[in-house]
Amino acid sequence: MTQHLVSIRRPEPSEAACRFLEGSHRLYIDGDWVEGEGRTIAVENPAREQCLAEIRAASVAQLDQAVAAARAAMAGHWGRTSGRDRGEMLQRFATLLDARADLIGEVMTLDNGSPLASSRMVVKFLAAELFRYYAGWATKIAGESFTPTIGARPDTDFLVATIREPIGVVGAIVPWNAPPGMIALKLAPALAAGCAVVLKTAELAPLVGQIFAELWEEVGGPPGSFNLVHGYGEDIGAAMAAHPGIDKIAFTGSTAVGRRIVEAATGNLKKVSLELGGKSPVVIFPDADLATAIPTASMACYLSTGQQCMAGSRLFVHRDIHDEVAEGVAAHARTLKVGDGLAPDTVLGPVISARQKARILDYIAIARDEGAHALLDSAPIDGPGHFLGPVLFTQVTPGMRIEQEEVFGPVLSLIRFDDEEEVIADANGTPYGLSGSVWTRDIQRALRVAKRIDSGQVGVNIHGAMSPETPFGGNRLSGWGREFGREGLDGYLKTKAISINLGAKP
Ligand code: NAD
Repeated sequence: MTQHLVSIRRPEPSEAACRFLEGSHRLYIDGDWVEGEGRTIAVENPAREQCLAEIRAASVAQLDQAVAAARAAMAGHWGRTSGRDRGEMLQRFATLLDARADLIGEVMTLDNGSPLASSRMVVKFLAAELFRYYAGWATKIAGESFTPTIGARPDTDFLVATIREPIGVVGAIVPWNAPPGMIALKLAPALAAGCAVVLKTAELAPLVGQIFAELWEEVGGPPGSFNLVHGYGEDIGAAMAAHPGIDKIAFTGSTAVGRRIVEAATGNLKKVSLELGGKSPVVIFPDADLATAIPTASMACYLSTGQQCMAGSRLFVHRDIHDEVAEGVAAHARTLKVGDGLAPDTVLGPVISARQKARILDYIAIARDEGAHALLDSAPIDGPGHFLGPVLFTQVTPGMRIEQEEVFGPVLSLIRFDDEEEVIADANGTPYGLSGSVWTRDIQRALRVAKRIDSGQVGVNIHGAMSPETPFGGNRLSGWGREFGREGLDGYLKTKAISINLGAKP
């Protein structure tokens, strides 16, 4: 049985974080902080299995109030706010995120276990940069005008002008794995577009959402433009998906819940965007730069202890370099220190919950039963904390459950291949299509394979690259629509075409 490298350090949270935890944790509705009237959520620190805070969820009546406040904001002051002013608020929001990155990052680490350095990166390089990017778009939302080629009346001149309007009230539902990034991905483009937002945090990591509402209040966001509710998915999340006052649900989470949201949204046929799960392939050809490909392939899966949607959890390796890559990834993974995210030497924090750990251990047992070989095995790690070390399976073949299903944990499957056609078919052989990467020095092969991998984004000699401008989203069971970039903004706008009668043709 493998021994994982474990950090023994368990630093105490900072004074600022303790003050935040000891403060009140409320809902933010129509510009007021109000005590929730729903069920109590006991927020756990997954590295210590200790209760961080108790939060009262919203009741359905409070959700109704938040939706009504959002509708009123759109009909009132917020609806009349200029793009210039919205952009300026978003810019100031980005500056505040940067300034508070240490606290927000630490709260994220306490809430979901991520190593502190990663949490701060999510705040500074994802959340703050998204606000900065969409602040720029707020002043550039414009339609177009044109002369239609065939008018309603042949003897009359027409002009068509299109205007781009906010889609309406947005219900944002986010997961626990990177709250600052997930919230920013919805909030920044929605507010830039002029929508009003009701955000529901994830019950497993709700605390960062509160800081976002505090910052929106600090930049002077009008009441009702951004409302915060906490709640469990099956009651408040489901009520949002079915709510007649919500025009769009922007969802990130599992494919199973995504389906439920689509079904619940049929009442008012609200628009739905879905960022769902994945089982992304990393494909390494024999001519690749293995010195880079091997550690990157390792981190493509093990980053965030495997709890990231674009995890490269299937590693396809050409037969000629199979053993070298397998040994290399195992050696790299053995260096990854598991521990409390507050410890500076931790690379892999805990998984989010006891339930998630049990689920991952089940998948490890399933893989063994299916005949996979654990080149790097899981070993018990002393608690408290839901810790798991990296696991590497070889002798995985396409079609095994470990190769098909999203584990959302530090479990990497290595699959041997012989040729390009075979690996493309197998890379596309799951119902998911989120991410992927191809590793080769042959530019033609790189582009050929990248084009044929059926997923929303593919890296060439890199995995999981993101930037505010680069569209991100999934094909097939990985989702509907794109976030980031201009397409991320388009999802919060609707187009109205106005046809203008210019009178009789001369
Ligand atoms: P989850 O689907 O269990 O929960 C996500 C959110 O949905 C939570 O806020 C939850 O309260 C809510 N929810 C649960 N049931 C609901 C219902 N019936 N109606 C409405 N809302 C409901 O997912 P999770 O465990 O929090 O996150 C992990 C999943 O998220 C993984 O599958 C991962 O791949 C996916 N994910 C995808 C992306 C992406 O960008 N594609 C990013 C991060 C995570």
